[in-house]
Amino acid sequence: MEQKILTLAEKWEIDAQAYKDGASVITASPQCEKCRYNIVGNVMKCKKYKIRHKPDYVLFCEKECKYFESKNRIEFDIYTDKDNSLYGGILGFCIGDMIGVPVEFTSRVERSIDPVKELRAYGTYHQGFGVWSDDTSLMIALIASLIDGFSLERLSNYFVKCYKEGMFTPEGVMFDIGNSTRIAIENIIKGVLPTMCGGSTENDNGNGSLMRILPIAFLNITNKDQKKMVESVSSVTHRHKRSLLAGIIYVNFVSNLYKGCSKEKAYDRTIDFVKEECKDEYMGEWQYFNRILEKTIINEKLDRVRTTGYVVDTLEAVFWLVFNENTYEKTVLKAVNLGGDTDTIAALAGGCAGVIYGFSSINDRWIQNVAKLAEIKQLIDDFRATLVN
Ligand SMILES: [Mg+2]
Repeated sequence: MEQKILTLAEKWEIDAQAYKDGASVITASPQCEKCRYNIVGNVMKCKKYKIRHKPDYVLFCEKECKYFESKNRIEFDIYTDKDNSLYGGILGFCIGDMIGVPVEFTSRVERSIDPVKELRAYGTYHQGFGVWSDDTSLMIALIASLIDGFSLERLSNYFVKCYKEGMFTPEGVMFDIGNSTRIAIENIIKGVLPTMCGGSTENDNGNGSLMRILPIAFLNITNKDQKKMVESVSSVTHRHKRSLLAGIIYVNFVSNLYKGCSKEKAYDRTIDFVKEECKDEYMGEWQYFNRILEKTIINEKLDRVRTTGYVVDTLEAVFWLVFNENTYEKTVLKAVNLGGDTDTIAALAGGCAGVIYGFSSINDRWIQNVAKLAEIKQLIDDFRATLVN
């Protein structure tokens, strides 16, 4: 009998169905083929599970197998603490996004019943393993524009290309884009001045500019210049003062971490900066950031932490996560299991945690599974070369 050769997508479908059925159906996961312990032609056993069958969770994803090691690993040459933080921050962001994508917009109750413990596929957008979303695409666009000689025009042009041509996306399409960002990009296409493209009403305070602002934190510039840059970069899609201040706080905090401050010290310095340097233009906004500026957010109970997609809620959740967990992995998994805007919150918290705990602390299985890893690595290599430390 002629045997039908299944495509990768079809195999994944079978695996996903197996997952839904509690993995009672035995399937041959295609990911095993990428593992250096794979024994060709014997899907039920490998060099690690020689005697007994692989456990159930291995059946549908070596991404969930503790022994998984890629046959074609991408190696990173990281020798200094600074590089450990830089690669950790940027990849930590991408990985947070990637872990959050399959469960974006699911509820906290759903996540407490079925907590994410590992990399998953499918879910909200029906994407494969390792796929990240618009947060990472637009963050990468910012890095690319910094490498190529920064200008807002260049950045805006990259945003248009992300949106229209799928540039900087894992599979050539942007499958998830916020409303404000989409409208702003339409404005860019119409020829509106980049700094005037973003919405400026109180309703334009989703987390769409905060989610892509991270790379500015790695530039060796003064706090004042950093603030100005955040304001202009944010304004391309979001130019209400609340969004600007959220970006200023996040970037300032991460840059303090990158300079080597403990998270407590980094937080204190950021609050001092806001109170001294963001007084005149932003004092009217301080009331909305009260729990952050008074540091009460870090001691809040779980049910007082919101994950709605509103920029202040997002920033609060990030501080809460950073101060309530003590490893990269725990920070990201806790972020995703808060439910709601999981990809953005896990990306932003993952960016902080990656800087704090470093690239070396991130699970290699997650790193090796990032879609377009080679391209992202090259981008960070190029970015690092432009940084003057
Ligand atoms: Mg997203």
